[in-house]
Amino acid sequence: MMARVSRNLVVVISAPSGAGKLTLLNKVREIEPNLRTTISATTRKPRTGETDGKDYYFYAVAQFLQERDEGGFVEWAEVHGNYYGTPRRELDRCLDSGHDVILELDVQGMRNLRAQRGDIVTVFLTPPSLEALEDRLRKRGTDDEAIIALRLKNARGELAARSEFDYIVVNDNLEEAAADMVAILRAERCRARRNPIGDLA
Ligand code: 5GP
Repeated sequence: MMARVSRNLVVVISAPSGAGKLTLLNKVREIEPNLRTTISATTRKPRTGETDGKDYYFYAVAQFLQERDEGGFVEWAEVHGNYYGTPRRELDRCLDSGHDVILELDVQGMRNLRAQRGDIVTVFLTPPSLEALEDRLRKRGTDDEAIIALRLKNARGELAARSEFDYIVVNDNLEEAAADMVAILRAERCRARRNPIGDLA
């Protein structure tokens, strides 16, 4: 039997923090306005400028653990000492809308989702170097030194997992990285297994 293949793309993008994922995805959305992004739940405190229900659903730890134990998350992980998870209703809402969906997950989340769905497309976004990453984390100015050190340590671990992904996009130049992402989406939509001949005839 053929594995179920969603007609809509389910794309996971992972990146060490500071790799420029947010800026890149905003750029990609300008070119591909029909993409939908799931909103994750997290126990991390909101950063300045972040809004509940838009950037994340900000949860108390007890609330997160309860929802997790009730099976409310498609996947969840502990990242940098906080919990993050994709609410099941979020992914369903995006898929039901008939759009391609992007999930921003850490490497554990990518592995977890891939174990459940064989049809996902995985992209690792990497800064050109660890030095460039450190520079970006400092310039962002949203985290203190201890947190920057923790994020850099985690970044080394995440970089080591990059070969597990279908695609690697180097974010040196924003325009080029966005063009690479759009090329990946377009190629994946053209895959023969997503376009059964019966639908074309
Ligand atoms: P940040 O705190 O910088 O927003 O995100 C930290 C990390 O958590 C990033 O690597 C991000 O991709 C990851 N993350 C965000 N939401 C989720 C989620 O729902 N599940 C998993 N597994 N990771 C997430």
